[in-house]
Amino acid sequence: MRVRVSKRAFIGAAALASVAAVVALALLPPLPASAPAPAWAPSMTTARGVFHIHTTRSDGTGTIDDVAAAAARAGLQFVIVTDHGDATRPPDPPAYRSGVLVIDAVEISTTGGHYAALGLGRAPYPLAGDPRDVVEDVRRLGGFGIVTHPLSPKADLAWRGWDAVFDAFEWLNGDSVWRDAPLSRLLGAAWAYPFRPGPSVASLYERPKAIARWDALLKGGPVVGLAGADAHARLGLREGREPYVSRVFVRAPSYEAVFRVASLRVGLPRPLAKDAARDADAIVDAIRAGHVHTVVDALAAPAFFEFSAKSGGAAAMQGDSLPGIEPFVIRVRSNPPADGWIVLSRNGAEVHRVQAAELVYASDQRGVYRAEVCLPARRAAGLVPWIVGNPIYVGERERRADAAPADMSGPAASLDAADKLWGVEKDARSHAEIERSAGGVGLRFTLASGADVVPFAALDATTTIPTGSTGIAFRGRADRPMRLSVQIRVVTAGEGKRWQRSIYLDERDRDIVIPFAQMTAVGALASGPPDVPNVRTILWVADTVNTAPGSSGRFRLDQVRFFSPRAPKP
Ligand SMILES: [Zn+2]
Ligand SMILES: [Zn+2]
Repeated sequence: MRVRVSKRAFIGAAALASVAAVVALALLPPLPASAPAPAWAPSMTTARGVFHIHTTRSDGTGTIDDVAAAAARAGLQFVIVTDHGDATRPPDPPAYRSGVLVIDAVEISTTGGHYAALGLGRAPYPLAGDPRDVVEDVRRLGGFGIVTHPLSPKADLAWRGWDAVFDAFEWLNGDSVWRDAPLSRLLGAAWAYPFRPGPSVASLYERPKAIARWDALLKGGPVVGLAGADAHARLGLREGREPYVSRVFVRAPSYEAVFRVASLRVGLPRPLAKDAARDADAIVDAIRAGHVHTVVDALAAPAFFEFSAKSGGAAAMQGDSLPGIEPFVIRVRSNPPADGWIVLSRNGAEVHRVQAAELVYASDQRGVYRAEVCLPARRAAGLVPWIVGNPIYVGERERRADAAPADMSGPAASLDAADKLWGVEKDARSHAEIERSAGGVGLRFTLASGADVVPFAALDATTTIPTGSTGIAFRGRADRPMRLSVQIRVVTAGEGKRWQRSIYLDERDRDIVIPFAQMTAVGALASGPPDVPNVRTILWVADTVNTAPGSSGRFRLDQVRFFSPRAPKP
């Protein structure tokens, strides 16, 4: 039977379909606006690249070569790969692949969030544990550390080490954007993704709360701000506690789409020379110095931005300090589309804005100055800025400092090294023996390896803590760099409640001071501040947090004592 469709019905259906297509196209997120060519000559070279990428070496879906090829298609000059790890794998040397410089870095899991480290060699022991200890280790090893996804909505991914003096901070994290977005916006982006991958991902980007947090941090001292892609090319459908352990996933958004959304522009003294080692050093040095800004490329392109300050003969660019307190002039130059604004802030509060390609601001007010270029007409306020620069610090730089030193001016009680109170604890397969010498006590150990054991070796002292003591101090040294867990234990039924603080030892003598107030509960039994009056054991523990199974070591302690603050005068 022939179906007869009237001509009129056919035309009606076709018209309806084309209206639907036009409406659908109109609903697609806009293509990047075209920004005018800059009306000024850039004073320095920039290199465009993306930081924070996962490959198949951890939980990404692409190989290093896939990532480099996607980066080349997206027009990037460099990528910084940050697979999860404990920094004991030596980083791959920098290399050009598909014409893109690939710099290998690592994203370390601490007990209080993730910390990416650039410019780090092979760590002498696994880096893990408290955020402040990982921050300290990365700095000691010459690395530059970036807190990643600091305000992640997933509690175990959010940063909790705010008291640590970290180097840098992700003000934008591509992965948190997906996790933060309401389902309706996610569905909209998913529908548009096959047609406009970059803009559809960018449509999820609101002004991150992390920008305000960054401004608050800057009041205490310098922090470099970066955008991290956190690219995995993978969206898990049923995620476990750790991200991306789901077996069911889609390979989206692709590396290329994410690379087209936002990228870094690193300011360089000279153009990249296709010498991988030298070029990588120049890029990492520039990031360390804060000579870097972020561009959300999916909003508008091309992007140009310079942020500088001058006072008398002194000059500074983003990331730098302008030490003088003379009157100074700040200049921000960009190339925003007609509806764009340059916004200057001081200590987190806006001080000036212009709807033009150049902002000039003269002042004698010291403080932390930051510039953004915003495209408000692209959508209602609350949209992610187009360009975000690093601060210029005018006047003396505040120094973010670690906690004040403990007051040890009161009486101290020594633990006698020769006393019978010293002993050893270990699992059944590890080796540990006490080593005594004049005035000191130490431990020689080899941790077991194998799947059937949780190896540890510890030197212990069975003792109570004198009333009024506020911490423990000692001089320590080890035969190689190592990190030990100093623990105090209240014996209860079972294995007892413990609190710990980890310490670093190496071949030279170090005076270690641990206020009990800095110790944190271990495991599920203990919680809250340490129960000092009921402590019966002090332990120096080598365990798998910072000691690789199968490895050996020796450490030695002298002058172990409990200290107290001077009693207040009546
Ligand atoms: Zn992470
Ligand atoms: Zn990551």
